[in-house]
Amino acid sequence: SVDVLTLGEAMAAFRAGGPLRLGGQLSLSIAGAEANVAIGLARLGHSARWVGVTGADELGALVLRTLRAEGVDVSACTVAPEAPTGLIIFEPRVADLTRVTYYRSGSAGSRLSAAEAVAAFEGGAPRVLHVTGITPALGDGPLAAVTRAVAQAKAGGATVCLDVNHRARLWSVERAAATLRPLLPSVDLVVASEDELPVLVDAGADPLTTLFGAGVGEVVVKRGGDGASAHTPNLTVDRPARRVPVVDTVGAGDAFVAGYLSGLLDGLDLIGRLDRAVTTGAFAVAARGDWEGLPTRAELGLLDAVPGTTIR
Ligand code: ATP
Repeated sequence: SVDVLTLGEAMAAFRAGGPLRLGGQLSLSIAGAEANVAIGLARLGHSARWVGVTGADELGALVLRTLRAEGVDVSACTVAPEAPTGLIIFEPRVADLTRVTYYRSGSAGSRLSAAEAVAAFEGGAPRVLHVTGITPALGDGPLAAVTRAVAQAKAGGATVCLDVNHRARLWSVERAAATLRPLLPSVDLVVASEDELPVLVDAGADPLTTLFGAGVGEVVVKRGGDGASAHTPNLTVDRPARRVPVVDTVGAGDAFVAGYLSGLLDGLDLIGRLDRAVTTGAFAVAARGDWEGLPTRAELGLLDAVPGTTIR
């Protein structure tokens, strides 16, 4: 069995150099929150399986080839013969502000179903199951896949991690709340941006009291350039963000999760987990692309080098 299992949609990612309406050149890669996390973990030496559905097209082949090249296990993935691989387009507008456009409705990725989730557990339960709030927003099939995976992971003794990852374009806070809150009794670790907490916690209620009361064991709250905090019922630790030149903030959250889960798998304590998470998050913002700049295990210490260092 693998260290980490995750499931979701991965898309072909086009990255423009400037405003799309001006045309010009685009670079092509892949993106998708869960795939980003899987790549981040594989770079750090953990075994990671990503499960999703791709189109029977060249962009689907790009998704699978890229994940394979990064050492991610795609053996439980399936190909949808009649739906295209989804697209995401990144359009840098000003400074570090990027506009993201999706072409994913009716995509192959949204054909994910409980069948893939069941196949994903072949070989035994993983140590960690990572799911995000994006997948259940993609449709009934993807929701069934997530529900099934969470139940099966729980039954197999895996640690279940939920990154709220609220996408207002896909569903409302109310719908996300109605879908994600029932999962909480099976979730061990919740990761959320501060502004996403209303998805899981009623206005006016204390987030930590609510989440621990629902059975969650660990809560990690991200605050972008202001860092993050990790909480268990009897311990809170805070870490500032690491100072790096900001090149492209997209993907920071996924990189952060990869670092956090890596620390968890390595048996690090709460501070150690959060330290690794802010480190991998910083790597993501300091490089172009969602996952391209993520560190290998040997590179984790690079941010401690003095500015201007050349690696020879
Ligand atoms: P995204 O949706 O863009 O992937 P997010 O909103 O899920 O990101 P953030 O809170 O923006 O997640 O970032 C996650 C973590 O990455 C932060 O807690 C921080 O450790 C790191 N990070 C984010 N922005 C910066 C920054 N400007 N400089 C250094 N580290 C950063």
